[in-house]
Amino acid sequence: MTTERSFSDLRLYDKTCAALIADPDITGDLLLIGLWLARATVLNDPEPGEGRWSTKAIAAAVYGRRQSGTFLIREALRKDLPRYDPFNDNPGEAQCGAPMPRAPFCRRSVTISGFRTDPDTGRMVPFAVCGRKDHQQWWREQDREQRALLAELGDRVPKPPANTGGALQRHIRRIGWAKFYKLLDTRWEPPAEGASTRKPTLTVVTNDEFEPVEDAARPVLTVHEGGWR
Ligand SMILES: [Zn+2]
Repeated sequence: MTTERSFSDLRLYDKTCAALIADPDITGDLLLIGLWLARATVLNDPEPGEGRWSTKAIAAAVYGRRQSGTFLIREALRKDLPRYDPFNDNPGEAQCGAPMPRAPFCRRSVTISGFRTDPDTGRMVPFAVCGRKDHQQWWREQDREQRALLAELGDRVPKPPANTGGALQRHIRRIGWAKFYKLLDTRWEPPAEGASTRKPTLTVVTNDEFEPVEDAARPVLTVHEGGWR
């Protein structure tokens, strides 16, 4: 540690740690990762560069020499990927959604359960039916219509905003989260909101080789694959 710690940095560090601990979405491993990142990004300890900001370094701090440490750190971070979760959007038991003569819906317990996309919002809505033959027929017809409609609309169906994850990025600001999320999961796409995270730098480490992703002068957080062996 060579960097002078200013009063404002110490104050920011203190506030960030307190906010991480107070956030109900940040518990367990994610909290430990957050505290590590607060120290690294605010106090520059450790200083970035040469893999010092990496999932491996965090694992060493959190788990010591435990073999699976890097894997567990990565999993905790992956669970915090900002994303849309249809189950979060539709809590509660699924009910038969087939229309009934004297009630809006059948509401019996279901044999086919799932969701379908609301073409106006992109959000998922319950799409389930009971075992009644006519209701299963209704489900098949609806399913066919839905598929045809979505195929016709294509990209015009909006992407739903994230409704889960992204807890750490609320508090740790000096990391290029969007790029880091992409390293954690190549299929990850920025949700409709919060798609604007930019800068600092991240590198990905595969087979112990550094592969700079962005401006190498900026702080670096690296992802280590493997970890069980
Ligand atoms: Zn029914």
